Parts: sequence; C-alpha cells; structure tokens
Amino acid sequence: MRDFHYISYAQEVIFGHAALTRMGEALKHAGWRRLMLCTNYSMRSSGHALAVEGLLGERLVATFDRVQPHVQDVQVEEAVTLAEAEDVDALIGLGGGSPIGMAKAVAYKLEDRRTARPREQSASTAQPMVPVVAIPTTYAGSEMTAVFGITHSRENPPRKVTTYDPKIAPKLVVYDPELTLDLPPELTASTGINALAHCFEALYSITRHPLSTSAAISGVHKIGNSLLRCFQDGSDVEARTEMLAGAHLAGLSLSSVAMGLHHGLCHVLGGAAGVPHGIANGIMLPHAIRFNAEATAAELLPAAEALGLPLDGNRPAVIMEETAQRVYDLVGDMRLPQRLREVGVKRDDLPRLGQLAFQNQTVQNNPKRISDAAQLEELLRAAW
Ligand code: NAD
Repeated sequence: MRDFHYISYAQEVIFGHAALTRMGEALKHAGWRRLMLCTNYSMRSSGHALAVEGLLGERLVATFDRVQPHVQDVQVEEAVTLAEAEDVDALIGLGGGSPIGMAKAVAYKLEDRRTARPREQSASTAQPMVPVVAIPTTYAGSEMTAVFGITHSRENPPRKVTTYDPKIAPKLVVYDPELTLDLPPELTASTGINALAHCFEALYSITRHPLSTSAAISGVHKIGNSLLRCFQDGSDVEARTEMLAGAHLAGLSLSSVAMGLHHGLCHVLGGAAGVPHGIANGIMLPHAIRFNAEATAAELLPAAEALGLPLDGNRPAVIMEETAQRVYDLVGDMRLPQRLREVGVKRDDLPRLGQLAFQNQTVQNNPKRISDAAQLEELLRAAW
C-alpha cells in the first residue's frame, strides 16, 4: 500500500434532471444575497443565461456575459470593478472552463481587495470570503478544481498564469444535463476527450490516492459508454447524463492529484503552437498511453477493462497498445484531428516543442522518468 496525502474540498454538488431548478434552495440555504453571473455569448444566445437569471431573481445584482476563452486579464479587471461596485457576495460561472475560470478569478481578486493584503496560499480548510458557484456546460472539469488561469494579454506572446488556492474550489456545483444538449459535436468530442485524459492521468499520477483512483476508473467507464453517443446524437439525454457524470468524476479525480506528461504536453502545444486544448488532448492521449505503458500498465489495466477491453490471457503490454488504439479510434470516430501536422504544427517546430516540454513542470511530474528532451521530441514526432 502506498502512502498518500491529498486535499479535498467541501463542495455541495447537485446532479441530474432539472438540477438547475434545485439551485435556488441551495443558494437560500447558503445565505448568499448579492450574486454576480459570469457567462458568455453562447449561453446568452441559447437562453441558458436567461434561465439562470430568472431563477436567481433579486439575488442577481450583476452579469458579465462577455467572457472570452482562457480568461483574459483585461476582462478580469473589468469584471472585478463591476463586482466591487455591486458589493457582490458570491460569483456564478455558467458555461465551460472559461466562464467558470472567470468566476474563480474575480472571487480571488475581490477577496484580495477586501482584505487589502497580499494573499498567501490559503490553508486547506479555509473558507472563501467570496464563494464560487459553478454551472458547467462542457466536460472540461474546472468546476471541481481549486485552480484557475489568467491570460496576461499585454505580454508578447500572451502568457497564461495559473493560480492554485483551496478557497477557489466552487462551493456549489450544479450539473444539469439539459444544459449540455446544445453543446456542438466538436466541443462535445474535444472536451469529452479532455475529461477522459483527466481520468487516465489521475490513474497513473505520482500523487494518486484511493479516492482519485476509484473516481477515475468509474469516470472512464461512464465516458467510454457515452461520449460517442453524445457526439452522434447530442439530444440523447440518457447519454448526456452519463457523460456529465463521467466528466464530474474526471474533475473530482483531477482536483486532488498532479497531472503528468500528457497534460504538460497539451499545455505546451497550446501555448507555443496554438493548438486548442481539447484538440491537443485527442491527438496526444494515445501517444502518452504508449509512452507510459511499461511504467503504468498496472494502474491503467482497470481503465482498459472499463473501456470494455478483455484482460484475460493478454500481456499488459498488449492491453496497453489496445487501449491506446481504442482511444485513437474514438478520436477518429468523432472526426477530431489525429495528427499534429493537421493542426498547424510544422515538423521544424518539434525540437523546440520538445525542449519546452522538457522544462515543463507538469511534464516532469510524469510517473515514467523523462531524462532528456529527445525522448519528448520523438514522442511528438510519432504524433506528427
Ligand atoms: P470554454 O469555456 O472556452 O468554452 C468553449 C466554447 O464552448 C465556447 O465558445 C462556449 O461558448 C461554448 N459552449 C460551452 N458550453 C456550451 C453549450 N452547452 N452549448 C453551446 N456552446 C457551448 O472551453 P472549455 O473547453 O469548457 O474550457 C477550457 C478552458 O477552461 C481553458 O481556459 C482551460 O485552461 C480551462 N480549464 C480549467 C480547468 C481547471 O481546473 N481550472 C480544467 C479544465 C479546463
């Protein structure tokens, strides 16, 4: 038995049919009276923002409905000013990882301003001054984590800076599958593969623990059962419900463990080569599984089983190759790009990307030791 050490967060989670309508009771119970909604244009045009506004009634005192992808610093400043002017006591993020990230960023900065002192990382059990409510409509998983990133847009090239603070973990999370029915097929596929990758990396994480492992295995099972069905028919409520539960489990496992090679590589590809995060996930996950196979087969065998692969009589190396191929096929079936060359990465970029990945802390958190940049360049070449 391995030693373990992790932080979990006190979060109220409401999941299922018409969960949104049950949010009001939870808000009343929490006593928050001056809420601000952070969301974006697609939530406005789909009517989801209006539905939330209607449910909040007088408790809603401000809305910032222009959140751009990757939480831009300029927008955070605008939203904080609005929140201060309205004396907000809780933030709601409605949408994908970007509006939820914005809600976290505003809550964090409001607390800094109200206490008028520079913050140190909070103790693991500290409660936030300005809590966050998350209503996710993609499968990215930010609603369960204590992390947010802000893009420093005035730098050239723009740089995304990540903050971890236990107080930032959303205190109330509302999962309503009906809000995901209009998630377009490409975003269903890319954010769904991102969730699957969270499970795989949680399973072999160097900081894994019994709870993250259980959540991740169950997450793989649910995602394996439902993601392709959601892609093929976005209106399939049963599949959407199972997929959202899978994304929840993926986010839960992600929230308390260190990610490794795969996520580090996807961040490098996003930052240095402009590859969207979900697309990078689809391309890289089979290669990360192959790369790590010899060191992590014991941890990944339950994932292979959860994907329906037979374990009997097969060598672990064979099962790992079948697992990588199963993920590769799923990515192809959902018509996502499967090679880096399809998404604008040039062959000449690979040595530089390999070097950057070698310096990336998340990459270095990988369970299989990475001793030089050439290993990563070779892996990227295989994905090219
Ligand atoms: P996103 O929030 O930027 O949304 C992507 C697109 O999907 C947007 O155009 C949005 O309008 C659209 N969309 C979302 N829900 C929809 C719906 N139901 N119907 C129609 N359109 C919909 O992207 P994302 O992939 O959800 O999240 C990615 C961002 O979140 C990145 O910035 C990433 O770094 C961050 N993230 C953070 C964490 C964390 O733990 N902090 C985890 C995962 C992702």
